[in-house]
Amino acid sequence: MDRILLCLCHMSGKEMDFINEAFKDNWVVPLGPNVIGFEKDLEHFFIPSSHTHPSLQASDLKISHSPELLAQKKIVALSAGTAAIHLALVALGVGHSDEVIVQSFTFSASANPVTYVGATPVFVDSEPDTWNMDPVLLDRAIADRIEKTGKKPKAIIPVYLYGMPAKISEILEVAARWEIPVIEDSAEAFGSKYKGQFCGTFGIFGIMSFNGNKMITTSGGGALVCPDEEIARLVTCYATQSREPVPWYEHERVGFNYRLSNISAGIGRGQMTIAEEHLAHHRNVQQQYRELFAAIPGIELHDNPSPDFDSNFWLCAITFTPDLKIKGDDGCGRPEALRRALDKENIETRHLWKPMHLQPFFRNCPAYVNGVSEDLFSRGLCLPAGPYVGPDEVKRIVNAISSARL
Ligand SMILES: *Cc1c(COP(=O)(O)O)cnc(C)c1O
Repeated sequence: MDRILLCLCHMSGKEMDFINEAFKDNWVVPLGPNVIGFEKDLEHFFIPSSHTHPSLQASDLKISHSPELLAQKKIVALSAGTAAIHLALVALGVGHSDEVIVQSFTFSASANPVTYVGATPVFVDSEPDTWNMDPVLLDRAIADRIEKTGKKPKAIIPVYLYGMPAKISEILEVAARWEIPVIEDSAEAFGSKYKGQFCGTFGIFGIMSFNGNKMITTSGGGALVCPDEEIARLVTCYATQSREPVPWYEHERVGFNYRLSNISAGIGRGQMTIAEEHLAHHRNVQQQYRELFAAIPGIELHDNPSPDFDSNFWLCAITFTPDLKIKGDDGCGRPEALRRALDKENIETRHLWKPMHLQPFFRNCPAYVNGVSEDLFSRGLCLPAGPYVGPDEVKRIVNAISSARL
């Protein structure tokens, strides 16, 4: 039987038209019409029309999370989601001897850019409903950092794991009380919504990823959702080696080569034509898992905790109840035993993210833990949900899992 992969990219067929156009016009460079077009497509998708709030003032880089500022947001296309986090930290002035709070239960790309600017990540554990940053623990962590270092953390990076929205209202409330800006890591949450608003548009910055296995792809790429035009211009300047607009090469600040290429952006424009279909597909796959897993004791499907949460279900994830046993668990642990059993059936699965506070590279970073992410890591697995997973594949996956139970 064919191998079922976690999440493959899937082309609309229009990508080549945009790429051919770039070749025809010799725009085989970073920047160009596809980059501008892709940014417009993203803004059209994520940002409600600016006509709704014509009288707003430009925001500054303090914290203004108010939803009225949504209409002013601008999106800058970049070479990666990781680059977007890096530039958000640079734009916020985070540097040496600063601390940044990062969700511990995540992919390492959420935390790595903190070290690029010479700052220290401070890890905060998750709450069990969404698997994302625990707002109560966040509050305690901030108070403790101030007591221990005499300084406020410079930013907070919550993550939307597997597309599931975090308890972002509560996180924003804590952030506003301490006056600390929020950078949402929305890399896995393209199209997810919390209380009807898109993830990635709540914080002062939001980051997106268009890597090969994400909800939509540019082969590799990302974007930074900026609070307004002025800051988007600053971020674009940083992303293009901080060239000043004069005829010679003039630099007032450090620069980066982080702009998305015009070819990659062409893929992105093609992908945007089927973004809604991708989202509908992933939510449909989750619904199929829901129905089939309801009859399988011992397996719990990670799902929206309430109607406020509207995950894109980029990857579907399961956990095992404490009593469930998996065949072939020779001490490797249940997730690994199940992963091996499914691999033999030609089904690709993946461990849940290993928390950052358990990673050797980050072992000396402060961490505020409550056991939630460690527990999930020890008893969960990610299942395929991509464009090539249909009802037959879901049945095959659920049957294979059911047979692997002891
Ligand atoms: C993919 C991912 C990133 C990084 O995005 P790239 O485009 O691969 O650099 C950051 N955070 C999370 C949670 C991710 O899953």
